[in-house]
Amino acid sequence: MQIAANNPNRKSWLNVAENCDFPIQNIPFGVFITKDDIITIGTRIGEYAIDLGAFHQLGYFEGIPLTDDMFMQDSLNDFISDGRKTWRLVRNRIAEVFDAKNASLRDNLKHREVIIFDVNEVEMLLPIHVGDYTDFYSSKEHATNVGIMFRGADNALMSNWLHMPIGYHGRSSSIVISGTKIRRPYGQTLPNGETQPVFGPTKALDMELETAFITTDVNNFGEPISVDEAGEYIFGMVLFNDWSARDIQKWEYVPLGPFLGKSFASTMSPWIITMDALEPFKCKGPKQETGLLPYLQQKNTENSFDIKLKATLETENGDLNLLTESNFKYLYWSMSQQLAHHTSNGCNVRAGDLMGSGTISGPTKNSYGSMLELTWGGKEPIVLKDKTTRTFFNDGDNVIIRGYCKNDTIRIGFGKCTGKIMPAMVPKHLK
Ligand code: MN
Repeated sequence: MQIAANNPNRKSWLNVAENCDFPIQNIPFGVFITKDDIITIGTRIGEYAIDLGAFHQLGYFEGIPLTDDMFMQDSLNDFISDGRKTWRLVRNRIAEVFDAKNASLRDNLKHREVIIFDVNEVEMLLPIHVGDYTDFYSSKEHATNVGIMFRGADNALMSNWLHMPIGYHGRSSSIVISGTKIRRPYGQTLPNGETQPVFGPTKALDMELETAFITTDVNNFGEPISVDEAGEYIFGMVLFNDWSARDIQKWEYVPLGPFLGKSFASTMSPWIITMDALEPFKCKGPKQETGLLPYLQQKNTENSFDIKLKATLETENGDLNLLTESNFKYLYWSMSQQLAHHTSNGCNVRAGDLMGSGTISGPTKNSYGSMLELTWGGKEPIVLKDKTTRTFFNDGDNVIIRGYCKNDTIRIGFGKCTGKIMPAMVPKHLK
């Protein structure tokens, strides 16, 4: 089936500013609450949020097999569970109805009033009920940098790293929507030069510049899927800030890996950009140097995406300080390889599961995806516009991640993924 929604020549009757992340070729999916307190699944064109619950009720999806309440829900899980064919039919229909030449909704003011909202008048909610969250560690540059800092240059990349996409099972309950304030966490750390650990607010609160992908039901319990079919089960992608407390992480991570240094919060952007919308931006990933085991060998080498990413620090005086610019295409392991590896032991992956890419660092210092790397373990502080310095983040800092794809004809963007850091709060029982 053709992805008619991707037609780059299509214009909408809704106004879309130049360089907007959400032209009619994007058609992402999200969940929002209107000012009348109605929660619905929706999409976005330009600065307009479109209520797909109302759109469906008023008959605009006629002919597409959908349950009556498909979009009148507080999560996209059921829709995602319906599979690629439905996603494509729905996106194609939305594109058709909002096409400048289509008068059906354009000229029906009554319907427009209940379907279309100013995006600033709705509140975005978490778009999926995240069942399981897995975080990979798939940037070779990031793994090498962290390895040098934690273990020295001789041991930087562990011997397993080039043979499989390394990952760990994260915590889904603390995944929050962009804009949610992030409280500086307490934790146990071993201060430099000490032999006794202490308990207190982290002194090394960091970001991880990541993307994440969301899956549909992938496989039955006990049945691995192949790397060549894995892509069929990926619904879409979001921006993802996997907040990390480096001092807590450093003390706790041996022998079982990340735990409380990561699980206090991860922030995701509200609009899920479908893999269909990203199709024009497919590209080759880095060459994989080591001979891979057959279950990870992918026939299609155009298995990455050219997605420009950047992180900005907004200080309390409103200054915007660019921290880094990276790109999804630097990732060594593809999403299909991650998913094939994930199911290779028979572990079942379900609709609404979220897979983080791991910090995406590029080859140069201005493309590193964490403060840990940008300040080289805190040794090279960053000087901001207001002349203050940062090794890690201060209270009051607002971290903004943005991402977009662009070619000669269209720009498909992700919007923003933001989180402002709040001061630590003394736990009640310790007051
Ligand atoms: Mn991470």
